[in-house]
Amino acid sequence: MDKVKKLIIIGSGPAGLTAAIYASRGSLSPLVIAGREAGGQLMLTTDVDDFPGFPEGIQGPELMQRIRKQAERFNTRFVSEDVISVDLKKRPFEIKTETHILFSEALIIATGASARWLGLESETKLRGKGVSACAVCDGFFFRGKVVAVVGGGDTAMREVSYLSKLCKKVIVIHRKDKLRAQSALQELVKSKSNVEFIWNSTVEEVLGQEKITGVKLKNTQTGKISQILLDGLFVAIGHKPNTDFLKGQLELDAEDYIKVSDETKTKIPGVFAAGDVADQRYRQAVSAAGAGCKAAFDAEEYLENARVNT
Ligand SMILES: Cc1cc2nc3c(=O)[nH]c(=O)nc-3n(C[C@H](O)[C@H](O)[C@H](O)COP(=O)(O)OP(=O)(O)OC[C@H]3O[C@@H](n4cnc5c(N)ncnc54)[C@H](O)[C@@H]3O)c2cc1C
Repeated sequence: MDKVKKLIIIGSGPAGLTAAIYASRGSLSPLVIAGREAGGQLMLTTDVDDFPGFPEGIQGPELMQRIRKQAERFNTRFVSEDVISVDLKKRPFEIKTETHILFSEALIIATGASARWLGLESETKLRGKGVSACAVCDGFFFRGKVVAVVGGGDTAMREVSYLSKLCKKVIVIHRKDKLRAQSALQELVKSKSNVEFIWNSTVEEVLGQEKITGVKLKNTQTGKISQILLDGLFVAIGHKPNTDFLKGQLELDAEDYIKVSDETKTKIPGVFAAGDVADQRYRQAVSAAGAGCKAAFDAEEYLENARVNT
């Protein structure tokens, strides 16, 4: 393999693959380091009903296969490994995977983020069967139903607000006796007549066999165990961006998301970021794809300017 590339894209979710489509059509012959979990988060889900162009909806893995095929059509090449480390002080940038050392003049980082889960076996078993970590993605399937949201921060309250417009009842389960979310969000959810709170409680078990039927709760003050019936459970205790391999190399924010300015630009010229790895707010396939497109344009412009100036 040609070891010095013009452009390496790390990650093969909607952001990385869309960047690859644009960069390959722009003749940059990008190499995508797809990661061990090639295809990204949508490989973990079934129905995707909000990606434009699929009026009947599409299964997450099929959508990702199609986007990958589109990138391959224009000559994107792939390595199916994780990046272990990068050296962004070197020019060209050095990227180490499990078995390769690669070099690139420009870099797009699109390594996404992973939802934090409670870590219960029963939760894993019922993921996609009533247990979700994304209200905007899955809320529609719970119209007129009773759901609970676990969490007390901003993200959780945004999920509650969204679900309260669709669901019959939304129960907030929080391990403390007050919310962490900013006060405007707290007031918003507390003003909703179909939102209830269960304070000082943790989820001990998600109940159900083929689909969720409820949860077993433990009161953190009294230790008392109780059960509630539910049609859905949304876990909203935060996300972890996949940036461990960047520590000490690139500026990250307090929650380890890549800091960008001007849409995709990091502090290091030639290094761009796109998708959930740099976006705490929107976290959707289409917004990640849009950011991937922008990063490809920005990388192309950077390479063009670098060529003119040498
Ligand atoms: C269960 C579920 C359902 C969802 N449903 C919807 C939906 O219906 N509609 C919607 O719009 N959005 C949905 N989302 C959100 C959507 O999946 C994300 O917003 C989107 O996938 C983000 O794209 P991304 O490319 O930024 O990152 P990801 O999709 O997270 O892709 C990241 C990529 O980076 C790779 N990677 C990570 N670390 C490394 C490394 N060290 N080296 C190399 N590669 C690495 C991963 O293997 C992966 O290929 C859902 C998410 C989940 C979890």
